[in-house]
Amino acid sequence: MRQWIKEPLAILAEGAEGGIVVEDGKIAALIPRGGKPAGPIDQIFDASCHVVIPGLINTHHHFFQTLTRAHPAAINKELFPWLRALYPIWAKNVKPEAFRQATRLALTELLMSGCTCASDHHYLFPAGLEGAMDIQAEEAAAVGVRMTLTRGSMNLSEKDGGLPPDGVVQDEDTILADCERVLGRYHDAKDGAMLQVALAPCAPFTVTKRLMVDSVGLAERFQCRLHTHLGETRDENEYCLEHYGSRPVDYLEECGWLTDRVWLAHGIHFSDEEVQRLGRHKVGICHCPTSNMTLASGQCRTKELEAAGSPIGLGVDGSASNDNSNLMESVRHALMINRLTYNAASVTHFDVLRWATAGSARCIGRDDLGTIAVGKQADLALYTLDELRFSGAGDPLAALVLCGAHAADRVMIKGAWKVEGGMPVGVDVAKLRHEHGQAAKAFLESV
Ligand SMILES: [Zn+2]
Repeated sequence: MRQWIKEPLAILAEGAEGGIVVEDGKIAALIPRGGKPAGPIDQIFDASCHVVIPGLINTHHHFFQTLTRAHPAAINKELFPWLRALYPIWAKNVKPEAFRQATRLALTELLMSGCTCASDHHYLFPAGLEGAMDIQAEEAAAVGVRMTLTRGSMNLSEKDGGLPPDGVVQDEDTILADCERVLGRYHDAKDGAMLQVALAPCAPFTVTKRLMVDSVGLAERFQCRLHTHLGETRDENEYCLEHYGSRPVDYLEECGWLTDRVWLAHGIHFSDEEVQRLGRHKVGICHCPTSNMTLASGQCRTKELEAAGSPIGLGVDGSASNDNSNLMESVRHALMINRLTYNAASVTHFDVLRWATAGSARCIGRDDLGTIAVGKQADLALYTLDELRFSGAGDPLAALVLCGAHAADRVMIKGAWKVEGGMPVGVDVAKLRHEHGQAAKAFLESV
């Protein structure tokens, strides 16, 4: 089937003012202004009221945290006290059904904001939740969103001097065996994959050095990506110097993690030399502006990192530090916080849209996603400018970011519509809200 997405109001692609042709899940042609597709067309979608951008790609999240949003014990705190408030709650046995609801809700929220490919850094594996990655694979298929299953891990807990409680960590052999199982079962390295897997120790300081090193070996064997948290707060630099005698980036290098296979969440507190070193090795950085502002963590040096060679992607981060999963909102927040870091002229709406699309695709190693170009996957987000907030807007692409678009009218993934009229296809949103709300309530009452 050949579909012409015809003459959009605006589109984030050069030479596609007349629209794009989608065939077999891919972008088959770009149509210039006033042009018509060569060859027959089976279906025309009139996009004259739509602003079209590549589907947004979320490169950092913790879906389970939707169960503890705006938690009274954690609000108005910075990262370490925030973690100390929430870990005892998270440690109280997240059950598979609650985790399934959390996954379904976060994926649906992301999708409705215009996200077509998600990743979830899941690192809690209490007894009973060993199948967390399987639950996420099932839910991603049901919602129809592409996903990088990011198999997290922690093997240093309070008894070893770490932050996480003992009940949520696993031993090294169990972790590595499950990483291998999940890679074997779900990692599809081919173009157009709906599921891939990345290996993701929670932070270099919540796992042993051996687990950091062995994760690299496994990632090379399966050709997958590596992910972890780094440089989120100043406390982390101090903690690392005290416990390891080195700064986090030096420790990461010792573990063999300075490669283009790696993307890091946050990446805020780096020295000039570290920015250059990370860029030279093409280590990706997932910028999480909303979370960084909520926890007052600091400002990522996006422009310097990008100039040094690091891909910059965007992430909403977990739903206890955002506390929503709206990636389009984070695009706007990225513009705002980076204008404080730099200035109004050097950070534009094109920069932040690039980070959320092509930059995020590079972070997770997806050459087939992130831009509207011939041969790329047909993953698109379409927004109308009908709401009051857009009335009177001049530049439609700038308006998405500046006026604060937050809900896509249509989302296409692999050539199929997954959101129509602002609603996710095949998902009963009211039922989801009710069931997730009940699951969160039951979880909080059990702790
Ligand atoms: Zn995180």
